[in-house]
Amino acid sequence: MKEIKSDVVIIGAGPAGAVAGALLAKNGWSVSIVEREMFPRFSIGESLLAQCMESLENADMLEAVKSAGFQFKNGAAFEWDGARTSFDFREKFTPGHGTTFQVQRAKFDKILADEAERQGVKIYYRHSIVSADIAENGAELIAEHNGEELAFQSRFVLDASGFGRVLPRLLDLDRPSEFPVRESVFTHVEDNITDSNFDRDKILITVNPNERDIWYWLIPFADGRASVGVVGEKEKIAAWGQDPEQILKGAISAAPELAKTLYNAKFDTEIQRIRGYSSNVTKLAGPGFALLGNAGEFLDPVFSSGVTIAMKSAELAAECLHRQLSGESVDWDKEFSVPLKQGVEVFKTYVKAWYDGRFQDVIFYQTEQKEIKGMICSILAGYAWDKKNPFVAAAERRLNTLVEICSAG
Ligand code: FAD
Repeated sequence: MKEIKSDVVIIGAGPAGAVAGALLAKNGWSVSIVEREMFPRFSIGESLLAQCMESLENADMLEAVKSAGFQFKNGAAFEWDGARTSFDFREKFTPGHGTTFQVQRAKFDKILADEAERQGVKIYYRHSIVSADIAENGAELIAEHNGEELAFQSRFVLDASGFGRVLPRLLDLDRPSEFPVRESVFTHVEDNITDSNFDRDKILITVNPNERDIWYWLIPFADGRASVGVVGEKEKIAAWGQDPEQILKGAISAAPELAKTLYNAKFDTEIQRIRGYSSNVTKLAGPGFALLGNAGEFLDPVFSSGVTIAMKSAELAAECLHRQLSGESVDWDKEFSVPLKQGVEVFKTYVKAWYDGRFQDVIFYQTEQKEIKGMICSILAGYAWDKKNPFVAAAERRLNTLVEICSAG
């Protein structure tokens, strides 16, 4: 069997894998990324958060992304039964980037992967990892390519395989998510939006007027097209039918404001569905490996936090791994899992509060208090690791106090 040796093997060339690979290559380590598909390939997860611009900058990828002509994004707008509100990321409490992009992931992920290659990473496309033998002193992964097997040997493995969840499956690390099984049905449309009140620079999140735990995204792209999708518990989604087109169109017509916005939209692309995407693991790292992005925990799409968490995990892991490969001893739990989970737990607090209605009450409350709005805005912009923000440092307590103020006011 052919053997390929490198310091680090990364499974998956999505945002987590590409960023981790580039950061390690920058530090002089040899990195092989083993990717099942050929790029460009479709992926869901198109609205970025401002925080992930920092990761792109650190991985020397920001200029390439900026020059690709993606739709500029400066915030998030929310609509619920006629009530409208919006957050401009530039008014956030936390210092740092205040704008980002809405991206067709096929093109975006290809740019990131090309940038990683430019920095010295070797990507093996159409290679699918099928088995793993990992120990503290080294690992061997077997990949399948055109019916043949190849052995990838390395000192450490980063699993960035997203929903493929390669190591959680092979090493039996899967743990059920705390969230119920939700489903999403989505597509790309030629949006033909003429409403002058519609702000293409923001993602629009619409809450279903009757069921507050059902919501829709509308993510405009730069080319007159948009991504549109609905999310809800699978039983509620099934109430619109079985066929994806019937579900998506039925769901949109149940949200009159969104239906009005999309009145002239041309549904010209296959409608897709994904179910049961929330997932968790028993641990994020072990001897010889760490899990990045969706291969670790995936919460929920509502705050568009997936790519941001994926890149943050890549940065934390690349830093730990650089030190370990240089001969330092690294406590992966203390230096990788705990700091990563700190931000993930903040998002989790707000995701739970979104679905039980508390955070929706806060979002739709018209506060004049700029400072508080700025702190909430920081969370929505992805700055969930900024402990100077009281809504990060004491998320649940601060949120509940704010909920009380909103219901009194
Ligand atoms: P991925 O981007 O999934 O990359 C994983 C790669 O691993 C893939 O290229 C895959 O081909 C490869 N792979 C898989 N198995 C193998 C194998 N066996 N061998 C080799 N390679 C393999 N996030 C946002 O930031 N914004 C959003 O607006 C957003 N919307 C979403 C909407 C929905 C409905 C869902 C479900 C998620 C959404 N997300 C969003 C989340 C986002 O899709 C993910 O968090 C993000 O893509 C994770 O990046 P990643 O690098 O971890 O994995």
